[in-house]
Amino acid sequence: MSAGIYDRRGEVHARFGGQQRGGIITPARHALVIIITGEEGLEHGYADRLRADGTFEYFGEGQVGPMTMHKGNAAIANHSANGKSLLLFKTTKQGLRFEDEMVYESHHIEQAPDREGNLRDAIVFELRPIDGVTEVVEELAPRPSSSDTELEELRKRAFAAAKESPGKTKSASTIFERSRDVRDYVVARAKGHCEGCEAPAPFHRPYGVPYLEPHHIRRLTDGGPDDPRHVIGLCPNCHRRVHSGADGTTYNLDLAKRMLAIEIA
Ligand SMILES: [Zn+2]
Ligand SMILES: [Zn+2]
Repeated sequence: MSAGIYDRRGEVHARFGGQQRGGIITPARHALVIIITGEEGLEHGYADRLRADGTFEYFGEGQVGPMTMHKGNAAIANHSANGKSLLLFKTTKQGLRFEDEMVYESHHIEQAPDREGNLRDAIVFELRPIDGVTEVVEELAPRPSSSDTELEELRKRAFAAAKESPGKTKSASTIFERSRDVRDYVVARAKGHCEGCEAPAPFHRPYGVPYLEPHHIRRLTDGGPDDPRHVIGLCPNCHRRVHSGADGTTYNLDLAKRMLAIEIA
């Protein structure tokens, strides 16, 4: 098997379980939503596509009649709120090729034929590669918070940011703004100290904000919006430890326990 190509049954399902058919796999015991793009849509007269602005448009599931926001479709729309990584694979002759980790930004409804050739409402997800989101957000100035009212305001925004927003218009906040909302709240919540080891932040960013890194406890990588109960503000040492340390997995479990006290539901 060539690099980056996976056999669906032998590797993806053997390791993660999940549905054996269809383009959306939601393994019960892993913080993952796997989506597959390929030629299947073509025979129905539509195909997933990359837009000029870098958004990847992915057609939801549902073979006949209008698509509904349930099961796999809901899993895509809510992956951030559920603390799950959204992984995009492409069907090739050799097997499934890993493309990228994506973030749900939005979705819209358009008319597309179903399996029987009838036009119906199709859910088209608008997704972005997580690295692109992270890079842009890194450049966005933090919103300062000096008072408790401001912290409460940031908290509200951060909790709203991870949630699905059906039917939202183009004027609604972008994926970049929503990711920034989560980051700014987590850093403000930490009040200048690492939420892992409680040491003071090692230095300040421009604008006087303490330097701490948002770590996504349940996801494979950091970045994008997420439920703030799954994101912890770490000093660079703790953050390297959790990703690169010999005890990284155990430390991540400790952090998950700490989060229960930090963010009471
Ligand atoms: Zn620390
Ligand atoms: Zn991390």
